Amino acid sequence: MVTTANAEETARLALARPDLLKQAALIDGDWVGGGGAIDVLNPASGRALGTVPNLSAAATRDAIAAAHAAFPDWRARSAHDRARTLRRWFDLTMENVDDLARLMTAEQGKPLAEARGEIAYAASFIEWFSEEARRATGEIIPGHAADMRLSVIKQPVGVVAAITPWNFPAAMIARKVAPALAVGCTVVIKPSELTPFSALALAALGQEAGLPSGVLNVVTGDAAPIGDVLTSDERVAKFTFTGSTAVGKKLAARCMATVKRVSLELGGNAPFIVFDDADLDAAADGALASKFRNTGQTCVCANRIFVHESLHDAFADRLAAAAGKLRVGDGLAGDTDQGPLINAKALEKVERHVADAVSGGGRVLTGGKRQPDAGTGGAFYAPTVIANVAVDALICREETFGPVAGLIQFHDESEVVRRANATRAGLASYFYTRDADRAVRVAEALEYGMVGLNTGLISTAVAPFGGCKESGLGREGAHYGTEEFLEPKTICARVES
Ligand code: ADP
Repeated sequence: MVTTANAEETARLALARPDLLKQAALIDGDWVGGGGAIDVLNPASGRALGTVPNLSAAATRDAIAAAHAAFPDWRARSAHDRARTLRRWFDLTMENVDDLARLMTAEQGKPLAEARGEIAYAASFIEWFSEEARRATGEIIPGHAADMRLSVIKQPVGVVAAITPWNFPAAMIARKVAPALAVGCTVVIKPSELTPFSALALAALGQEAGLPSGVLNVVTGDAAPIGDVLTSDERVAKFTFTGSTAVGKKLAARCMATVKRVSLELGGNAPFIVFDDADLDAAADGALASKFRNTGQTCVCANRIFVHESLHDAFADRLAAAAGKLRVGDGLAGDTDQGPLINAKALEKVERHVADAVSGGGRVLTGGKRQPDAGTGGAFYAPTVIANVAVDALICREETFGPVAGLIQFHDESEVVRRANATRAGLASYFYTRDADRAVRVAEALEYGMVGLNTGLISTAVAPFGGCKESGLGREGAHYGTEEFLEPKTICARVES
C-alpha cells in the first residue's frame, strides 16, 4: 500500500539540498517513474518518508540496455579521465556528507554520527578506487618457445549488475560501483527497497561529477522481478551481491545459466574470543564497538562471544555496564547511541533468540526487552548482554542481527578455535590476547576471511574485505577489489626473427 509521504517527516530532514531526496529511478541519465510506487519508511517512527518507483522487468532491461550502450565509450576513456570523474564524485560526497547522513538515518535508523561515519567510509572507497583506476596493470610472461611472446592485459568485464542490502545503504554500493567504474565497467544497481534514497542521492552526485548517461543506473522496486532480469540477461557480464546467504546462493545459481562472473558478500557468524591473557578493558570496548554498532545489524559483528572461564564474570560485568549506558532512540536526535532495528520482523527474531538463550540457562545482565519508550512507532530493543549462553543456543547458530551479546565460557585454546570454526560461515572473526605466539597460532587457525587481533573494528577501503566458506566469493576493497571487475586476456604472439 502506498501512503502519502509524511510532510512533517520530510521537513525534519532539514536538507541543505532538498533535491538530493530523489523519488525516481535513474536510467540512462534520466530520472524516471512508472510502475506504481513503494513507500520508504523511517524505522524510528514507522512513517513514510517518500516513495520510489516500483519498476518492471522491462524497465530493468532498459537500464541494462543503457549500461550496455554506454560501455564502449566509458571503457575507451583514459584511466586518468575516469579517475578524475571519480575524484570529483568523492569530493561532492564529502561536501554533502551532512545531507547524505540525514537521509541515511531517516531511512535506515542508525544514529547520525554513525551515518556520517558511513558516508565518509563509502567516500573512501570512491577515493581509493579513483587512485586505483590507473593501476589495472597486466603482465609480460617469458615465452614458452623461442619465437613466442606472451602478455596478459586486463580489460573491464562489461556491464555489472549489483544488488545491495539496507544495513549499509551507501558503503555497500560504493565498494562495488567505484571499482567497477574505475576500470571501465558500467553499472546497474538495485539498492534494497528499504533504503533506496541513499543510493539515489549518491547517484545524483555521480551525475554532477560528470558520469556520462548510462554509466551508472539505479533501479528501484520489488526485488524478485528486477533480480530475475539482472541475473539472467546476457548483456550483464558480472553480478555482485551483498545480502543474506539464502538469497545470494539462489541468485548466484541463476547467474550460472549465462556464466556470469559472480562476487558474493553474504552472512557471517563472527566469533569474538577473549583469552585469559587479554587486556580486559580493551576487549570489553572492542566487543561493545563490534556488537552494538548499527544496532548489531552488520555481517561482521561479534555473534558468538567466547570468554575464558577465568574472566567470564568480570568481562560480563564490564560489557553489561557499558551496554546499559547506551542511549537508545531516534537516530536523528543528536544524543543517540543506538537506533531502532530495521523493522518488526527483525525485532521478533531478536526476541526469539533472547528467549531461546534464556531457556537454555543464559542470564540476562542488562536489556532483554523492547524499549518502547525510546520513541513511538519504531522497533527499539534495549542493548542486551546475556551471560552463560549454551554453545548450541540459537544465538550461536544463526546471525542475530540485533543488539544482543551472548557470552559463552571456554576452557582452552584448541577447544575454542574448534568451536569458533564449527560453522558454515567464514566472514569476520576477532580475538584478544597479549601472547605473541598465540596471536600468530590463532590468526592462522581461524577459518575466516578476516581476523581482528585486539580490535573489534576491521573494515577499511585499503584492505580486502570478504569471506570464505558460505560467507561469500571474492573480495572488496584494496587492489583485490578491482580484480573482481577485470578479465585477464592472454595475448600469445608468434614473432618471426
Ligand atoms: P537482508 O537480510 O540483508 O535484507 P536480503 O538477501 O533479503 O538480505 O536482501 C539483500 C538484497 O537482496 C536487497 O536488495 C533485497 O532487495 C535483495 N533481494 C532479496 N530477495 C531477492 C530476490 N529474490 N531476487 C533479487 N534480489 C533479492
